Amino acid sequence: MHISHRTPEGKEAYPTQIPQFGLGVFLMSDGGECKSSVLAALKAGYTHIDTASMYQNERDVGRALKETGVERSSVFITTKLRRGDAVGYEETIEQCKKSLELLDSEYIDLYLVHAPPLDPAHRAPVWKAMEYCLEQGWVKSIGVSNYGIAHLDAMKKYANYMPSVNQVEYNPWLQRPHLKKATEDSGAKIMAYSPLARGHRVDDPELGAIAERLGCTPAQVAIKFCYDQGCITIPKSSNPSRIIENIASLGIDISSEIDAITALDEDYVSGWDPTTEP
Ligand code: NDP
Repeated sequence: MHISHRTPEGKEAYPTQIPQFGLGVFLMSDGGECKSSVLAALKAGYTHIDTASMYQNERDVGRALKETGVERSSVFITTKLRRGDAVGYEETIEQCKKSLELLDSEYIDLYLVHAPPLDPAHRAPVWKAMEYCLEQGWVKSIGVSNYGIAHLDAMKKYANYMPSVNQVEYNPWLQRPHLKKATEDSGAKIMAYSPLARGHRVDDPELGAIAERLGCTPAQVAIKFCYDQGCITIPKSSNPSRIIENIASLGIDISSEIDAITALDEDYVSGWDPTTEP
């Protein structure tokens, strides 16, 4: 999928290609679980890994990449600036360098501000530093996560490059049409985190009935829905057979059930939701 950063003149800057499907590694421990899950995913055909400084497993992602010996350019790595570290220009640059070191990589494909910095006064300097990292080539693209419509609007006043993605919770139970439109209007793509609502809704009977009619698993319906809505989709699993099940969802045609899946929306938030914060 094509992503880029919109300039104040309306031009596209630093365009790149992002694999629209990837593995999320939240809650995977460093020193084993994360590395083996990334290895299983790469073997199954995944080409995109979503980690974060907060997950404390960037080192394992780097180790897995080294162990497979695949070309660095054949895997897309997203990582994020921890919210607690998003406190200024210098601090942001320092954290980007730290992630590069832990990932043992020359560059990061996509670097995200994990959530709007708690102090609104920090938002512009943090973003300016993200732009500096982009200009230096340390990161190939920059974006935000958990930004609401008001946060995106405010960025228009200080950003030289608008974000290429806004990573937010998105799944059949939380479809966020207004936030999706505002994100896309700003030139960014939605990156759907918790596409399975953290596993909370995989046993939902309505989803189960849809899956049965389609001849696939409930998780595959939820994942393919996010994907078909044009979202970059990053389900997490540390289970090798689910890792395969999840990527197999890309081959499933859910179009005959789209109305039934759309009707599942109920504004259900499975985790946190900083998009509504001031
Ligand atoms: P998901 O919605 O991806 O759900 C993960 C849960 O579902 C796990 O418990 C997993 O268990 C289970 N699961 C996975 N596949 C299946 C399956 N096929 N059938 C049944 N259960 C399944 O939750 P996450 O919150 O982890 O979101 C995905 C990724 O998004 C994260 O890993 C992270 O990278 C990112 N994220 C970003 C956030 C942000 O603030 N920017 C916040 C939250 C997530 P098991 O491992 O045992 O298979």
